Amino acid sequence: MSKKLFVVVAAMLCAGSVLRAQEPCGTDKKYWDLVKQKPQILEYERAFEEQIQNSINDALRNKTTLTATDTAYFDIPIVIHVVHDYGAEYLADNDIYDAVKYWSEVFQAQNTDTAYVIAPFKKYIGNARIRLHLATIDPRGKPTKGVVRHMSYLTGNADDDAKYFGWPNNKYINIWFIRTFGAASTGAAAYAYYPSTAAFIPNYDGVISLYTYLNYAKAIPHEIGHVLNLQHVWGNNNSPGTVCGNDGVDDTPPTKGHNPVGCVASALYDTACATGYMRNYTTSAGVDSVENYPDTVNSQNIMDYTYCQQMFSKGQVVRMRTALLSSTAGRNNLSTAANLAATGAMAAMPDLPPVAEFIVDRGVGGTFATDTRSYFLTFNNSNSFSFTDHSWNDTITSLKWQFSNGATTPNSTASAVLNKFSVPGWVTATLTATSNAGSDTLVNTHAVYAADTTAVSPTGFSQHFATPASIDNWPMINFYNNQYKWEYVTGASADGDNSCVRFRSFDTTNKVFGTPAGDHDDFYTPAFNLNGITGKFYLNFYTAAAKTSNPGGGTPAVGDSLQIDVSTTGGARWTRIGGLSGNNLVNNGVKNTEYKPTLPAQRKPQALNIPDVYRTGNTFFRFRYWPGNTGNNFYMDNVYMFPFPTSVDESVVAAGTFSVYPNPSSEGFNLVFRNGNEGNVHLLIKDIAGRVIYEDQKTYTPGTTAQENLPKSLLPTPGMYLITVIIDGASRTEKLIVY
Ligand SMILES: [Zn+2]
Repeated sequence: MSKKLFVVVAAMLCAGSVLRAQEPCGTDKKYWDLVKQKPQILEYERAFEEQIQNSINDALRNKTTLTATDTAYFDIPIVIHVVHDYGAEYLADNDIYDAVKYWSEVFQAQNTDTAYVIAPFKKYIGNARIRLHLATIDPRGKPTKGVVRHMSYLTGNADDDAKYFGWPNNKYINIWFIRTFGAASTGAAAYAYYPSTAAFIPNYDGVISLYTYLNYAKAIPHEIGHVLNLQHVWGNNNSPGTVCGNDGVDDTPPTKGHNPVGCVASALYDTACATGYMRNYTTSAGVDSVENYPDTVNSQNIMDYTYCQQMFSKGQVVRMRTALLSSTAGRNNLSTAANLAATGAMAAMPDLPPVAEFIVDRGVGGTFATDTRSYFLTFNNSNSFSFTDHSWNDTITSLKWQFSNGATTPNSTASAVLNKFSVPGWVTATLTATSNAGSDTLVNTHAVYAADTTAVSPTGFSQHFATPASIDNWPMINFYNNQYKWEYVTGASADGDNSCVRFRSFDTTNKVFGTPAGDHDDFYTPAFNLNGITGKFYLNFYTAAAKTSNPGGGTPAVGDSLQIDVSTTGGARWTRIGGLSGNNLVNNGVKNTEYKPTLPAQRKPQALNIPDVYRTGNTFFRFRYWPGNTGNNFYMDNVYMFPFPTSVDESVVAAGTFSVYPNPSSEGFNLVFRNGNEGNVHLLIKDIAGRVIYEDQKTYTPGTTAQENLPKSLLPTPGMYLITVIIDGASRTEKLIVY
């Protein structure tokens, strides 16, 4: 094949590559970020590099580099972690198995595109003799197909924190796939750590990659190259195309490296930095030997960014194999006979039963927001809950669903099921997935919540969360089934009864199970009947919260926030009407141990006027908490509704004032007043003719705000009345209209 023809073919093969503007690899950015935090990595690396260069020099002296006489194979157990939120990043098992097979071929120089390596480099193509094997035994000794799945919000904001549930790095190479990277790795397609860096952060050792790079070019073999201590061909920085550099490997000539360009001639025949490149070696017998390396750079190297990646060089092979013989980050344990037995790496993939798994999707009907799943709807709602199968780990041959609560579709074998429920409460959803190898059944007793529509009167209502039963119809949903969640607690309160609810935002595992930022969880009220309530009317409650120190130093920003939403459609659509953030939320400063409020002074009154448009006969409220990475616990207590905001209830309403609502009314009235120093209150209601209709004398705790309900039965006849309230001898009168 003529050179000219070859270029055309290669350009066609790689045409897709140049369409992506993604920065291919974040390895060096992460490396230098970490070196800044732990400068001792540099010293460690210098020692490791010396060891490697000695080993390479020995090989070179004996001219073994170029022939790779070491023909033993390194067998390496690997595990693939799919960190997902059931989006496109939920890679299919078979696609993963195929990809691993291909990566393994690349490490044995069996990838067919080595045929396109340009003539000067053909003799430098290195066969690393490394075979990658999906583990068949997990760290607990259980059978596995080497693929595990973790549902997590961290897939959308991934960094090292998304690498939770990693397997021991001296036994397996961990490879995580995620949806998008967070700020610390923005723009990267993937990254990995060199062994000398990984030795300092074993939990983060391995490759993490966008799911779209499972099979994209040589993205994963490139990253595994870093795991095995290969640098980019221009050196360990992330600035290809700038200055001539080298990678500590002789048969990859010095180069500036390339940004993603595909197999274009300007990269393939780039001679910048490489003209006249040769090395002189002295054999052990003292004979000088000159190796005249190509004067063209190795732009088809897997460690360049061209995305025309087709080969590792023989020198890189020596470097990788040396890493696998080094105890740095436990690499030399990976391919030991004992480890291969412990991880089942040499065994055939077992035929295992499926793992039954389903998700709750966005509700189906006319009014759902597009960005949220629907776990809460009133029973007999005109809209439907939606459930979708996501079972995996084997080829599924049949499915069976079952539902509680009077489901409209009690049983189904479909992969997606819509349902309404006629019985209020938590719904149990059961999914059985079957394959040739057996069945698995998932029973979720809190799959979704069918809310009662019995509306609570706000008059005189207050929720102190006095007993665990208090939250029976105040459902809490922990979407990601983790430690960051709403919960009922005792031993803390904002009203003296030693119990309340809280959002647990404090990270007690020190990031072992991921960081909280990005999570969110919901806490719902029952339905309230707010019909006919006019004027100001507040959703009131008390809160207490703290934050933790900023891990990076300095004053921590408050990352946590509380969103307050309302629904008048039985949960089908929610509208944000308020929220808490900053110091309105965190009112107790920095506490680096798990925070619990103990004194009344630690609480903060909160109040939100309920907009008129949401005052229906069936109004629900939702508290959605968004933890950040410097949060501590958030406590909430004494939820009630009132014509005055909480803070006013505390101190501002002048003694002797009162308010009546709703007014006019056809359903009775609520009377709210601030009683005086004596606590004695005299109520008097007269009709328009001056006849006394009702009279009462009551005693209250002096100086408190009180509420009394005047039921409809007291004033059954429509018309105008006058109500007089006498507090500490001072009298005030207002009109009441009954219709
Ligand atoms: Zn890289």
